Amino acid sequence: MPVVDYQKYCQMLDNAKKNKFAYPGINVTSEITSNAVLNAFSEAKSDGLVQVSTGGGEFASGLGVKDAALGAISIARHVHFIAEKYDINVALHTDHCQANKVDSFLRPLLEESKKRVAAGEKPLYNSHMFDGSALPLKENMDIAVELLKECHELGIVLEVEAGVVGGEEDGVDNEGAPAEKLYTTPEDMLYVYERLSEVKGARYMFAATFGNVHGVYKPGNVKLKPTILKEGQDAVVGKYGKEASFDLVFHGGSGSSLEEIRETLDYGVVKMNIDTDTQYAFTRPIVEHMFKNYDGVLKIESEVGNKKMYDPRSYLKKAEDAMKERIITACKDLRSEGTTLGV
Ligand SMILES: [Zn+2]
Repeated sequence: MPVVDYQKYCQMLDNAKKNKFAYPGINVTSEITSNAVLNAFSEAKSDGLVQVSTGGGEFASGLGVKDAALGAISIARHVHFIAEKYDINVALHTDHCQANKVDSFLRPLLEESKKRVAAGEKPLYNSHMFDGSALPLKENMDIAVELLKECHELGIVLEVEAGVVGGEEDGVDNEGAPAEKLYTTPEDMLYVYERLSEVKGARYMFAATFGNVHGVYKPGNVKLKPTILKEGQDAVVGKYGKEASFDLVFHGGSGSSLEEIRETLDYGVVKMNIDTDTQYAFTRPIVEHMFKNYDGVLKIESEVGNKKMYDPRSYLKKAEDAMKERIITACKDLRSEGTTLGV
């Protein structure tokens, strides 16, 4: 099916919220990883999101170009093209864009969507994340409100973040963030609601932090407090009513227990970002291929090696398949399996 439009995307988010499940938001950096996502969603009968980070976009544009926005456009076009062949709904999303990258990443992508919408087509991306969490909250929301206006006019959803996701991802290092910044307060959540409500009728998602950390952590090492999310939701709903309840996003969940993941679903998490776990799943079979076929992938002692073994397709197919399987597991963990809205 084609990549969703705004209406269908809103239906997806509503469906997740109402039925207490979340969509996997899978980070991709190439055609092959995008294909793994589409295939996995289809097999799990789950709708979901394909996501591109600034680093992923830069990688996709190639070493000679290194343009994050261009690479993100290229991946999105590929997904628009190939998604037609699958029977589930998929949305396109861009991940963390810090304030200093808005002009080089978000703006060109919004421009591209503007052109498409003017020509009667769907926007290129269904949602974008603006990550102003490094700024004071007021400044963060000042920029978010402006971007939300622009996105809303184009039928695009905006994701924002308040509080800091710990750890390191894509070159952004929050290892030294003070502990209290890792937990968003109910006051901050109220403020986010009040500011974003300035844009009437606009849809957004909110990455509130509750001790989550980017990157890989041994199970048990991540000190999550999902009740932070509940307290924030209670504060907002208590003051502004049920409609005010946030569509929350879970970042940095690698290494969390299934129990913790499931608890966040009860508090309104509708999307969980997945990168580290699928990166590992992709790489694992490549390692095995190289170890097992050592003398085939290498030309040892004036031998010629084995073309079947060093043709990149031989191991990349295994990698794509293993990534697919990991995403199906994510669909089960997040209870999105079997929930596709269909046409
Ligand atoms: Zn994140």
